[in-house]
Amino acid sequence: MIANVWSLLKLLMFQGLFTSPPQDPGFDFFYLTLQWPGAYCDTKRSCCYPTTGKPTADFGIHGLWPNYNNGSYPSNCDPNNEFDPSEISDLVSTLQKKWPTLSCPSNEGYKFWEHEWEKHGTCSESVMDQHGYFEKTLALRDRINLLQILTDAGIEPNDEFYELKDIKNAIEEGFGFTPVIHCNRDPEKNRQLHEIFFCVDTSATEFINCPRPRDGCPSHIQFAKF
Ligand code: AMP
Repeated sequence: MIANVWSLLKLLMFQGLFTSPPQDPGFDFFYLTLQWPGAYCDTKRSCCYPTTGKPTADFGIHGLWPNYNNGSYPSNCDPNNEFDPSEISDLVSTLQKKWPTLSCPSNEGYKFWEHEWEKHGTCSESVMDQHGYFEKTLALRDRINLLQILTDAGIEPNDEFYELKDIKNAIEEGFGFTPVIHCNRDPEKNRQLHEIFFCVDTSATEFINCPRPRDGCPSHIQFAKF
């Protein structure tokens, strides 16, 4: 009995001495930011469809952004880790569908992905490399059937106005987490549902409750057609 207790103590001491604590990733959580293309395009700046054609009418990815709990975020963390298209060649056709560029002039998307990797992705290098950054972001997006959740709740992209709280409630009920919502302005100054932010743990695998759930929208917002 005493020998067993002694072995257990030795095991605990050994583990305490030789297991290293988890590495600090250098940020507190990620925002997975999804974008409604109808809102991105319905502004004074307008938009250009990618060379592959008009994206499907669905939420696209804007980015996966490391953030701090105090509301600030790191950016452009490693100028030596430049975007390398050859590392994501197996993902390009999926990125074109789910992470579509809408900037002008019309292009394939590499410029947008490069911007997102260099500004945000390089700040999560301790967690994943470039391929992992794009692969994990695509996988996270696939876990939220956002447009279906909204449509099931009668909230559709038909240029109608909806209550912000109804949109948030529908997502909380359909997905289990409350998002943060940002709006833009169309040329007539209507505030529109533009981006929906979900919070994700620092390993980019589990959704979490957002530490600072502050929306950037009025209470009544338009869901633009696309
Ligand atoms: P960020 O710097 O990651 O906050 O993203 C903002 C930049 O991304 C701005 O220059 C936007 O014009 C650009 N952007 C946002 N959405 C898209 C999109 N769907 N396609 C191309 N550029 C975009």
